[in-house]
Amino acid sequence: MTDFPLCDLFQITPKEVFARRAFLDLTDEDERHLATIREIIQADLDKIVGEFYDHLLKADELKRFLSDRRTVDRLQATQRDYLLSLGRNADQLQYFEDRLKIGITHERVGLKQKWYLGAYAILFEIVSRHVGARYVHQPNDLLRLLSSFKKIVTLDMVLAVETYYQATTQRLEGILQQLTDAQQQLQEVSRLDGLTQVSNRRFLMESLEVEWHRSVRFTRPFTLLLVDLDDFKRINDEYGHRFGDFVLQRTVAVMRSTLRPADLIGRYGGEEFAIGLVETDGDLAKQIAERLRLKIALSPFESEGQKANVTASIGVASVEPDVDRVEMLIERADQALYQAKSGGRNQVCIYRRPYP
Ligand code: GH3
Ligand code: MG
Ligand code: MG
Repeated sequence: MTDFPLCDLFQITPKEVFARRAFLDLTDEDERHLATIREIIQADLDKIVGEFYDHLLKADELKRFLSDRRTVDRLQATQRDYLLSLGRNADQLQYFEDRLKIGITHERVGLKQKWYLGAYAILFEIVSRHVGARYVHQPNDLLRLLSSFKKIVTLDMVLAVETYYQATTQRLEGILQQLTDAQQQLQEVSRLDGLTQVSNRRFLMESLEVEWHRSVRFTRPFTLLLVDLDDFKRINDEYGHRFGDFVLQRTVAVMRSTLRPADLIGRYGGEEFAIGLVETDGDLAKQIAERLRLKIALSPFESEGQKANVTASIGVASVEPDVDRVEMLIERADQALYQAKSGGRNQVCIYRRPYP
């Protein structure tokens, strides 16, 4: 943190100060003119501030805003400091820091930008009148003074606009962050199957694709299991759909307790799940599948006073050199699953490549 935190935030460096002043053509001569104007302001300060507030109070919205005596007192004190420091040391970072602070204060108390900028114009008008009254007979000097005055007011107004712009941007960024968070939550939700909280089919396919690519690229083993509950239609018919749902959830719990956290589990269809076993070759996968099958067959499926025996058939297929798409792996696992079903269910079958 430097001594000029707002300047930091607005990226106002000594170089930037120089560039802004050069652009407005603020010269040493202007500095001298502004010193003269400050003297006039000093002499007429009460009148200037009084006229300024009289004008502000003509607007109903501002009248409401300025109805609180303490707010007015505070604003008037700021106003006096502001007027007396107008253009003083305006080549210093501190000048910019103070202007930015004033802008931010006004924005924070809820003064709308239209009033804030409008008030600058009014202030310019009032001070010009007071300066003009003293230079009635020196119109050329008056013009030069007012030209310098206009430059410094422009410099200050630009800073005011920037503070409001920054505050709005910050608010928008906050809203954007909230939207991003909400979107992420939605995405999270849309990745999961509502009933079982494992990956839904779409997300499952994406994850399998990623893992399959990784396995091919780094020649790492990867095996897919397709797990299909046996006679599930009968379970639904006998115990009801609600119990069927419970069976699906319980099956996922058994899977999770059998597999490693890195393995992928997804709901491939109604009562069919796909499991991607990372870093697992066919032999190991067969053991895991067998363990899973046994656990399902031996686990009690009990809910709301009902109890059923549940079994599953499992098809297994591993990545091999001739598997050139993840879909091919799924087809192979599906063929193995079909074998398990036709072999009597409640068993694990491994895809075997037919001999050429
Ligand atoms: P198989 O042993 O050959 O796999 O026979 P199956 O009865 O398990 O297979 P089938 O494909 O004939 O029936 C699957 C049933 O799964 C039919 C469908 O109503 C049920 N099912 C699908 N999704 C859900 C679900 O979300 N909840 C419940 N309770 N049942 C579901
Ligand atoms: Mg089934
Ligand atoms: Mg099925």
